[in-house]
Amino acid sequence: MIALVNKDLFRYEIHALLKAFFPREEVKVRLEGEPLKGNRAQALQEAALDPFLYVRYEENEAVMEVRSDAGSFKRVCRNDLLPEAWRVPEGLPMNEKSPELRSMVKHVLYDLLKEVTGRELPWGELIGIRPTKIARDLIAAGEAPSAAAAYMEETYSVSGEKAVLASEIAEREHRLLSQLHGRDGYSIYIGIPFCPTTCLYCSFPSFALHAWKEETDRYLDALEAEMQAAVRLPYLQGKYLDTVYIGGGTPTTLEAPQLARLFGMIRKYFPMETCLEFTVEAGRADSITAEKLRVIREAGVTRISINPQTMRDETLRLIGRRHTSAQVEEAFAMAREEGFDNINMDIILGLPGEDSSDVRYTTERIRQLGPDSLTVHTLAIKRGSRLQKWIEENGYESLKDTEAGMEAAAQAAAQMGMLPYYLYRQKNMTGNLENTGYAVPGKFGIYNILIMEEVQSILALGAGSISKVLHGGGRIERADNCKDVRTYLETLPEMIRRKEVLFRADEA
Ligand code: SF4
Repeated sequence: MIALVNKDLFRYEIHALLKAFFPREEVKVRLEGEPLKGNRAQALQEAALDPFLYVRYEENEAVMEVRSDAGSFKRVCRNDLLPEAWRVPEGLPMNEKSPELRSMVKHVLYDLLKEVTGRELPWGELIGIRPTKIARDLIAAGEAPSAAAAYMEETYSVSGEKAVLASEIAEREHRLLSQLHGRDGYSIYIGIPFCPTTCLYCSFPSFALHAWKEETDRYLDALEAEMQAAVRLPYLQGKYLDTVYIGGGTPTTLEAPQLARLFGMIRKYFPMETCLEFTVEAGRADSITAEKLRVIREAGVTRISINPQTMRDETLRLIGRRHTSAQVEEAFAMAREEGFDNINMDIILGLPGEDSSDVRYTTERIRQLGPDSLTVHTLAIKRGSRLQKWIEENGYESLKDTEAGMEAAAQAAAQMGMLPYYLYRQKNMTGNLENTGYAVPGKFGIYNILIMEEVQSILALGAGSISKVLHGGGRIERADNCKDVRTYLETLPEMIRRKEVLFRADEA
């Protein structure tokens, strides 16, 4: 499906909305006169396609037209045709990049696509990853959650159900985040980028452990060097450490003595007295042993994750996880035995070959285990990923049922006494839905909220991690570490230098 634009404006927004309405289509937003990309065969194929959508930006208006088998549909984006809330300020040209025009274009295009398809989307015209932020800002400004929900519904065409969910979560987030030290605090993320095998859908920094086993001690040396440098960062002096999150990859691919060394390093270099939440993603059941769990527990970790993704063994094999659902149950029982009272489990909706009945099966087995939180992800298909190739070769039929799967997961969470507490969206999510974290009261994962809502600086260490500094006025600066482990190890001084530049003394 091609959208043709006459100016290089809002191509991302146009692409995202078309993709949201037509998730199975390959969507391209092409600028008039732009040379076709890809190999010759692809370029010829693309050139033969009639555009589906035309967008023309003129001095005083933007015109959008869909030409389809069902006829021609048109909208004109112009101040005098729109309600007050959507107008651009007087004198602002209609053909230049401005946030006001961006909002107007999204609003009008959503309306057009709604007419063309006869459908509405659960999140309306919102295409960003943090729909709860709108509600949270309103609640922080003193609005009631019901008013925030009504605003989302009326302004952005969000469905009533999603608007209520977003505002309920936003209110909970607002209360949880107020326990932290805000800009006087910070959090730490440490990435361990090794996994027993690589999952079909993986989009994280992850390297097969067997190829890196001999280098894991060197990796810990590098982390220690990063920590030594981090404690001297002027920005962190006098600040309170609120949360620590060890993710990856799979941190429990490290051996028990290596985990003990990692925890020793954290305690040596950082002030843990104020730390409210200390999480380790144990992640894969095939990496968990009682000995490792004991080390984690003794280090004062308050929350762990044991992630089945699905309890169907057939799917686990298909997605390359190489552990069984029985191993998940064993790991969970071991963790309870070791005294963990805050265990999260992650599941993914829309996995190849699965539908809502599989989600019900998975959540029922999880319910019998009784975790403290459940994080429900919707499969996101990244371009060029192994999963995308798999789909091209094998076809994919689960997309249609993701919404029913989401409902089944929400029901299971409610049966376990859990409440939704964080939510985010990704590009190319199946069913155009969201990822939602549920937890029993008192067991909410605060770091998960922090990373999404970007209300605190995060010092991130390890390959593929991204540090963020929150400045006054909500401005955020980032510095990333190389994803590739070898490059990370070889360019460690540069990773340290990037953080020194990022974490200058607070500029607020
Ligand atoms: S366990 Fe997570 S990080 Fe590791 S390969 Fe699977 S999806 Fe990627």
